[in-house]
Amino acid sequence: MIPDEIIEQVRESADLIGIIGEHVELRRTGSDFRGPCPFHGGTHRNFAVIPKKGMFYCFVCHEAGDVYTFFMKKLGMDYPTAVREVARRVGITIPERGGPTGPDPREPLFAAVATAADWFARQLRDSPEAEGARKYLESRHVTMEQAQIHALGFAPRGTAFLDAMKGLGLREEVLLDAGLIVKRDDGSKTPRFRGRLLFPIHDLRARVVAFSGRILGEGEPKYLNSPETPIFHKGQLLYNLHVARHATRKAERAILVEGQFDVLRLSLAGFEEVVAPLGTGLTEDQAALLQRHAPHVVLLYDSDDAGLRATFRAGDVLLRHKLRVSVATLPEGEDPDTLVQNKGAAALEQALKDSVDVLERKIQILERKGFFGSLPGRRRALDRLLPTIRAATDPISRDLYISRVAEVAGVRKDVLEREVDPKGFTAPPLRQPPPSSTVLPSNAEKSLLILMLSGEPWRARVVEAIDADEIEFPVYRTVFEALADDAPDRLDETAARAYESLQAEGLRDEQPDVVFGRSVNWLEARRLDREIARKQQEIDLAPEADKTRLTLEKRALANERNAKRPSWKILEHARRKGAPGS
Ligand SMILES: [Zn+2]
Repeated sequence: MIPDEIIEQVRESADLIGIIGEHVELRRTGSDFRGPCPFHGGTHRNFAVIPKKGMFYCFVCHEAGDVYTFFMKKLGMDYPTAVREVARRVGITIPERGGPTGPDPREPLFAAVATAADWFARQLRDSPEAEGARKYLESRHVTMEQAQIHALGFAPRGTAFLDAMKGLGLREEVLLDAGLIVKRDDGSKTPRFRGRLLFPIHDLRARVVAFSGRILGEGEPKYLNSPETPIFHKGQLLYNLHVARHATRKAERAILVEGQFDVLRLSLAGFEEVVAPLGTGLTEDQAALLQRHAPHVVLLYDSDDAGLRATFRAGDVLLRHKLRVSVATLPEGEDPDTLVQNKGAAALEQALKDSVDVLERKIQILERKGFFGSLPGRRRALDRLLPTIRAATDPISRDLYISRVAEVAGVRKDVLEREVDPKGFTAPPLRQPPPSSTVLPSNAEKSLLILMLSGEPWRARVVEAIDADEIEFPVYRTVFEALADDAPDRLDETAARAYESLQAEGLRDEQPDVVFGRSVNWLEARRLDREIARKQQEIDLAPEADKTRLTLEKRALANERNAKRPSWKILEHARRKGAPGS
């Protein structure tokens, strides 16, 4: 057998247009090429070659496949011969292995599933019973032409499928092994998929290995997948990866969506780097698979509560595999389908470009729900952020995450580090260094700038409440100074970009006075933290006689600070005292 990697490498290097062009006169139409079909001998340009997908398709006789299939169907080669022929043309040497190399024992299963896929696709096109399926696709803005290119199918009710397969000479035990039929309690056999719209699932060699069937009308489950078979391991494949793997390299990202329909929708809008898990949550194996194909994953799930839970679960799995993970959010009330219908593919691309880091997205949501406004809320927020910090196995990401969460939750970084990784904890130096200034933008700083941008009276109130040097993030300090001076035209390029993004963000649906109070308190608490640290140094160096007085002063500062922003220790104390539910 020829190794998979070589088969892939050869396929990718092949000049599909050139090779097919030797047999068919092709002309460019948009991003595809069209010509008369060499299989059914047509004269009209119904035969499409789609280089982006590495495939061909005839809209009349429905022959379809990749460069290997073309040689097999056109010149009657078997698969290994087709691979060797293409390899020869692209100049790749295929190692001849010594020893006996028999045919793949799973070959009958691949053949059975491919035969079934053809039959299901034909039902969707022609069968009167598939009218409901065709109507459904129409309602989702999928044309029959698009459905055919994506090889969608229809499984009728009843036993027509089983009869047809038997008529084609397929044995029941092969159909059983391929997961296409099931055995009933009474020993009789019945098709696995009945009354469903079928999405074929391909392996990385672009062979159909299984199906995912969506129910039409009422019934459970909504989606039914093929069972695990010798050729289909659900956890180790991703829907559409055979197409997306090529596109991810160019796009430098993969888009992960919830289901097959989202993949279809994005693919129709011109996004090829899209994959979906197969009906369950994202598995560790699937994340590892994705990691081999893209450095960055954008999660595009529903924005409802269930969708968000799924988003963050998938996010943690991906972080564990050292992927960069961000979350795209669609405008309220839109899904990828409606967004593309209403505002075009550009709106979707913008949403993908605007995606934010998965931890930042979590913080945004907790903030919006008011978690950071109260003491118990902050503790609960931390409990929700900790799994994501722990999932970040890459040390740099983890350190950035810890800094960010320490800041947003008002917790000391070293305390948070201990909480994240109790075993890795090393004792702190005897004397606390003064808190180092953060290099990350702070939420409080950001919120105050957004308030200022809303105009008077907020601009004046913020200027009155804080000084420019209390803004630690340099870009924000520049913006603050420009706003305080009412001279936004003075901004350099970086600051101007920050200015614009703050303006775009706006206050969302928060009350300005609540934001103002919380943010000013936070900056005030940060200033007090520094004073407390200084006081402690003073105490350490002071003669015994002064220590009592200085300690009292420090305690007064701490009380003041705690009123502004309760510290982690106090939270811990409250918890030990038996705060319910902790
Ligand atoms: Zn044809």
